Amino acid sequence: MLSSIKNCLSIEKDVPPLDISLDGKYYSVTVMSLSPLSGEGKKRGAALLLEDVTAKKDVLRIKQDFFTNASHELKSPLTTILGYQEMIQSGILTSEKDIKDANEKTIREAKRMKLILDDMSVLNRIEGGKEKKDIKPIRIDLLLTDIENSFLPRLKEKGIALSGKKEELTVPMDEEDARRAFTNLLDNGVKYNRENGSIEVDCTSSGTVKVKDSGIGIREQDLSRIFERFYRVDNSRGKDTPDGSGLGLSIVKHILESYQDPIKVSSLFGAGTTFEISLKK
Ligand code: ADP
Repeated sequence: MLSSIKNCLSIEKDVPPLDISLDGKYYSVTVMSLSPLSGEGKKRGAALLLEDVTAKKDVLRIKQDFFTNASHELKSPLTTILGYQEMIQSGILTSEKDIKDANEKTIREAKRMKLILDDMSVLNRIEGGKEKKDIKPIRIDLLLTDIENSFLPRLKEKGIALSGKKEELTVPMDEEDARRAFTNLLDNGVKYNRENGSIEVDCTSSGTVKVKDSGIGIREQDLSRIFERFYRVDNSRGKDTPDGSGLGLSIVKHILESYQDPIKVSSLFGAGTTFEISLKK
């Protein structure tokens, strides 16, 4: 800082801005040369201009974190795909069974990459406000029943019982937004459930929607982090990790925030999780 001031005084020109941090905030400091005023001889001076760039830095950090996480998440399936395909090509895997296994794993990893890329593009569209919203009154109770119906084959496969009370509820929302948010919540309710578990989906005419599952639950320390982009709880990793991008709940949160609708989560580790949303009527 001092050297910038000295430099400015000696060359009598503005020097390029530099960033400093002060009391938890970031400032861009420009040192500007003050040319000698007429009649004041050779007196020189400099003025300091401080611009608070904390918010700009935060946006940059969020972007950088996003790219770091995204490339990390995409790299791991890609490495697996390359590994297996090279083993097939170089003749290390020879038996029909080994080649079939390798191909299956390759397809699974490629699907995971597609899931991540699809969710990244959804998040990018909704965050950038690029999606044109068609906001009109929609029947949330009917929409929930429709979404539930699309899950029936998966629920049957896992032996999950579905229940819940639906009171008539109409709110102004873009149907695609509402469908996306509730589909994500139901999808998680199935993915992180146990065999023969249960899911309850309720909505009340006052605007509350509740999605409750009897699944693996979420530990206290993870609860506040599950809405972060790419955050996946460790206990759901391992070889039986359900497929996911780690972006689903960020998408849900972002959609609901755009309507200023709060979402709450409560969970009992090992017993189940409940998401509760208050929709504005
Ligand atoms: P993912 O694609 O991994 O499902 P999400 O953003 O939807 O990503 O969720 C983030 C993480 O939160 C999940 O990886 C999982 O660990 C945890 N999670 C989300 N919903 C549930 C749930 N209903 N029960 C248990 N854990 C959940």
